[in-house]
Amino acid sequence: GEKHNALVEVQQDKYLGGLIAEGFDEKSCLSRYQSLWKNKGPQIHRPSSHLISKLRNYEKLHRRCGPHTESFRKASQDLNASIHNNNNNFSISSDCKYVIWTARDGLGNRMITLVSTFIYALLTQKVLLVEPGAHISDLFCEPFPGTSWLIPSNFPPIIQNFGKDSPKTYDYILKWEKPGSVIPPYIYLYLAHDYTEEDKRFFCDEDQTFIQKVPWIIIKSNLYFVPSLFLMPSFEKELNKLFPKKETVFHFLGRYLFHPTNSVWSSISTYYNGYLARADEKIGIQIRIFKTNPDPFDKLLEQILACVIKENDLLPRINGEMKKAETPELAKSNRTKAALMTSLDSRYFDAIKMMYQEHSTQTGEIIRVFQPSNETKQRSSNRDHNRKALSEMYLLSLTDKLVTSSKSTFGYVAQSLGGMKPWILYRPEEYYASNPGCQRALSMEPCFQAPPTLDCKTSKRVDTGKIVEYIRHCEDMNWTWGLKLY
Ligand code: GDP
Repeated sequence: GEKHNALVEVQQDKYLGGLIAEGFDEKSCLSRYQSLWKNKGPQIHRPSSHLISKLRNYEKLHRRCGPHTESFRKASQDLNASIHNNNNNFSISSDCKYVIWTARDGLGNRMITLVSTFIYALLTQKVLLVEPGAHISDLFCEPFPGTSWLIPSNFPPIIQNFGKDSPKTYDYILKWEKPGSVIPPYIYLYLAHDYTEEDKRFFCDEDQTFIQKVPWIIIKSNLYFVPSLFLMPSFEKELNKLFPKKETVFHFLGRYLFHPTNSVWSSISTYYNGYLARADEKIGIQIRIFKTNPDPFDKLLEQILACVIKENDLLPRINGEMKKAETPELAKSNRTKAALMTSLDSRYFDAIKMMYQEHSTQTGEIIRVFQPSNETKQRSSNRDHNRKALSEMYLLSLTDKLVTSSKSTFGYVAQSLGGMKPWILYRPEEYYASNPGCQRALSMEPCFQAPPTLDCKTSKRVDTGKIVEYIRHCEDMNWTWGLKLY
């Protein structure tokens, strides 16, 4: 009895509570089974059995329909033929339908849209594929056993032509064609922050009837659009069954989908074991600056210190006098805290590191400050740059307490993967010295920063933060905008 139960527990932990399928080659992707999150203590959240069986069924579907299968070959052939005939009068000879994810913006944006697109695929029995141009395989292992989510290189060239204004977007179809009269071979769904009211009809059940019939759907987004799926009557019931705890959506699906490749994993685990593992407590501080002119440095540094030290005791205050030479025996007996900072800019790190190097702390704790990289600029098409970004989101997720920057998807990924409710820094341009530097998030979910606001039937504006109790506006958008699961 007991022994068996303990064994099952260990086994379940290895598979993240049953989230991860068996049957992978473990050596080809060490991160899948060597998760470092378990060092943070026992998993508080468990995936629902419904989610687990949904994932196992999805994996079967993906194996049946994925690249290099007969169904895939037929479906691509249909697509190719329809492109060459340049008409909508095409035949459907495959029983599989696909949703293709395409990349835009930084890695945090890409990860939140991948999760959103995957949920849509789960809900509609479609197969999730990722565009080859995004070099996803530099970063992540294949998530589904015995198959691939990468589009083969000889695929019809429909992805490259996708922009906000291309024909075949849903906006275009609604304005210029009659949806429903014919089913096109493929459509583009443009779901980024500057989408039109027509594009937004993706979130209407009436429109889903048509959209779901299309064999190939290509999505481009930079938004975490999951909350609005919960507001659709046709998906609501199933989503509630999959996620009885609403704030765990990204937490589980992110951990399910995103396993760093061995080379990224090696830098993550080396860094973790070298600098973080032995500290008694780990504090993550993610500094993301969207507006660098005027330089927010002085104000923002003051704000970070207010949040981290004065208001929330995440790091201790320093003593006024400069430190004398450290006595090693004394240091050994003291509690240590590691502060992991991430930013494109290294000045914040330099200042805080210097502060704790030069001064002892009022609590006697030893503070070590780290920043793995300082890349200066965002370069999202560069492989090594993206690998560093992934390593750092992952390292932040391994901390015990996390401070993030408002509106940053980089921070969203770290907090949800880590299962943490972060302290969110107010935006420096909105910050005044008398205000608090940060506020505590009430949920670990990412924010859907630009949700639709019109009612599908009446086309009148509604307050979508007031429809159900578990969807509210986001903390980092001052509670008036954005949607988030709580
Ligand atoms: P967001 O723009 O803050 O929502 O996050 P994204 O991840 O989508 O885009 C920001 C991109 O800039 C990241 O993906 C990185 O390429 C880079 N970047 C921003 N902050 C950091 C950081 O702290 N560390 C590293 N390594 N890269 C960063």
